[in-house]
Amino acid sequence: MKVAIYPGSFDPVTSGHLNIIRRAAKIFDRLIVCVMVNAGKKPMFTQEERVELIRRVTEDIPNVEVDCSDELLAEYAKRKGSCVIVKGLRAGSDFENEFQMAMINRKINPELDTMFLTAEHQYMYMSSSTVKELGHYGVELSDFLPEEIIPDFQERIK
Ligand code: ADP
Repeated sequence: MKVAIYPGSFDPVTSGHLNIIRRAAKIFDRLIVCVMVNAGKKPMFTQEERVELIRRVTEDIPNVEVDCSDELLAEYAKRKGSCVIVKGLRAGSDFENEFQMAMINRKINPELDTMFLTAEHQYMYMSSSTVKELGHYGVELSDFLPEEIIPDFQERIK
């Protein structure tokens, strides 16, 4: 059974993330979406809230599981019996950082590979932080966020 991990902050999960989740779920037998702690970012939603939002938008995908962790990703993957990390690659700016992380993860766990899925063109320039910024200005968000979580997002942005 091929198990892959899709890690991120998902603060909150966007349509770009969901696109990667759907595509990766078709490739692997089981996909674990894992909300990781990022000490450098002050989140809008707690880790538990982010897990709940992802569960809500992935309910219809049977082989997707949602979890959270504050472990080192390479160790988390080993514990879950996974040897593949899935990442979404947007514009070139993601590459440098992702490449470095993939190398570090392989150094810590040599069994671990990182696979990149290129972002769908309409999500290429979208990040959770852009969505939050647009939200502050009252921009209509249905192109950016899954419908089911827009009310939660709007409530929080107030
Ligand atoms: P963000 O940069 O939006 O805060 P995360 O840290 O939660 O995103 O990212 C988790 C993963 O999802 C990363 O691999 C990131 O490159 C990818 N990702 C984020 N936004 C998109 C998008 N719009 N399309 C494809 N992949 C994305």
